[in-house]
Amino acid sequence: MVRVRFAPSPTGPLHIGGVRTALYNYLFARQNGGKMILRIEDTDQTRFVPGAEQYIIEALDWLGIQFDEGVHIGGPYGPYRQSDRKPMYRQYADQLIRDGWAYYAFDKPEALEAKRKEYEAEKKTFQYDCNTRSGMENSLSLGMEEAQRRIDAGEPYVVRFKFPDNIDITVHDLIRGDVTMNSRLLDDKVLFKSDGMPTYHLANIVDDHTMEITHVIRGEEWLPSAPLHVMLYKAFGWEAPQFAHLPLLLKPEGNGKLSKRDGDRLGFPVFPLEWHDPKSGEISSGYREKGYLPQAVVNMLALLGWNPGTEQEIMSMDELIKLFNIEHISKNGAKFNLDKAKWFNHEYFQKLSDEEVASYLEAQLKEHGISAEHGYVVKVAGMMKERITFPSELWETCCYFFQAPTEYNEKDVAKRWTPDMHIHMQKVIDILNTVPFEHDAIHKALLDDYIAANGLNTGKVMNSLRIAVVGRTVGPDMITLILTIGKEETIQRIKHAIETIKVN
Ligand code: GLU
Repeated sequence: MVRVRFAPSPTGPLHIGGVRTALYNYLFARQNGGKMILRIEDTDQTRFVPGAEQYIIEALDWLGIQFDEGVHIGGPYGPYRQSDRKPMYRQYADQLIRDGWAYYAFDKPEALEAKRKEYEAEKKTFQYDCNTRSGMENSLSLGMEEAQRRIDAGEPYVVRFKFPDNIDITVHDLIRGDVTMNSRLLDDKVLFKSDGMPTYHLANIVDDHTMEITHVIRGEEWLPSAPLHVMLYKAFGWEAPQFAHLPLLLKPEGNGKLSKRDGDRLGFPVFPLEWHDPKSGEISSGYREKGYLPQAVVNMLALLGWNPGTEQEIMSMDELIKLFNIEHISKNGAKFNLDKAKWFNHEYFQKLSDEEVASYLEAQLKEHGISAEHGYVVKVAGMMKERITFPSELWETCCYFFQAPTEYNEKDVAKRWTPDMHIHMQKVIDILNTVPFEHDAIHKALLDDYIAANGLNTGKVMNSLRIAVVGRTVGPDMITLILTIGKEETIQRIKHAIETIKVN
């Protein structure tokens, strides 16, 4: 039974890189008929940000990434928030000490800082490891008796992992193959802190084991920690899960990790939902509020670092679940591409029904104090949606279906509206008043029997008509437009243009 988890720390809004990690876990779980778990890793109380956990849940829910167990829905392996699991970690730290895999360390922050400085002065980096631990204050250098005395006297301490000297540790990664590191390069990480809380490393391993996680799919930034994790499994005598470390999401230029600052600089969100920072009050934009559709965001993120092995780009969640495979995840970082993100949104916008598009448009009409018949709004929505990438563009793109132009674009007028246009526009009114109000009849009377028969410039006349009806030379097919807004409205708009547009 496949069991995977998404294990964010509630330190702020969820970055889209984190969303992609959640998505890949979800696809993998669903494809294998496994379980998807949401665990909140909040052992570092100093980095806790109120509202972040709720934000994570809301964002994943918006995107349709569902969980079978988790902090918000419970489940048989709970609790799913590490701070709620606090009492269970201590025994595991004790076990490691008992078995010689860990030790107590009493070094004060100032002492560690002094050591670092001392090394820096010699252009070296201090690492708490097998070479240096004997010169520090810990249960290995002081002896267990002295260590116990200090603990009993209430002296603060941490528990550190004791890496064996000079052994090669191999992490088998499903994406990268075997990654080997020598223990001399690794420091004796703190597993348990003086505040009685485990660190990420201990809690993560204990939880993955007790929650029976089979596959750890997470960001590349955790690869350097993986040898420690592998060693912890060994120390506990537990079978390790399989690991897959996902490639980084890179800046659009490709140099370095995609950051919030890149988003601000280039005008795209790096967070799924808008985030109001509780401390600074700063607001960061979100995909949802920018008008991205959740299906588009999912599809775009799925392809940032993975491909189905074919040229196919548009894939629904169900298709992604079928096609996803870890072997096709790239080892290299994936460059974020804003144009592609917009392209996906445009594509998914086209998949919305006319009714759905109309509901966005209706909300905008309301904001502009306009009421229109529902059937009419649906018709306009259907006609115009292919021009739309974001719902917010609807009003700007469709407003002339609902209100006469209040001004005429000067450039368009200068280019098209020659003095004879007053006569031609009057003629258009006459035609509309006499021929049947339908496409072919209007087309024949206007384009063949009038414009062509009199040797007029079609572009000029039709664009002037457009200026009169729309206010500028944009919009769908002119006759379709006339038929949509209606005869009376069209004639009124043309009359108003004849009266108002001045030509020199
Ligand atoms: N809490 C870690 C994070 O915030 C989880 C890393 C992991 O999946 O092991 O990304």
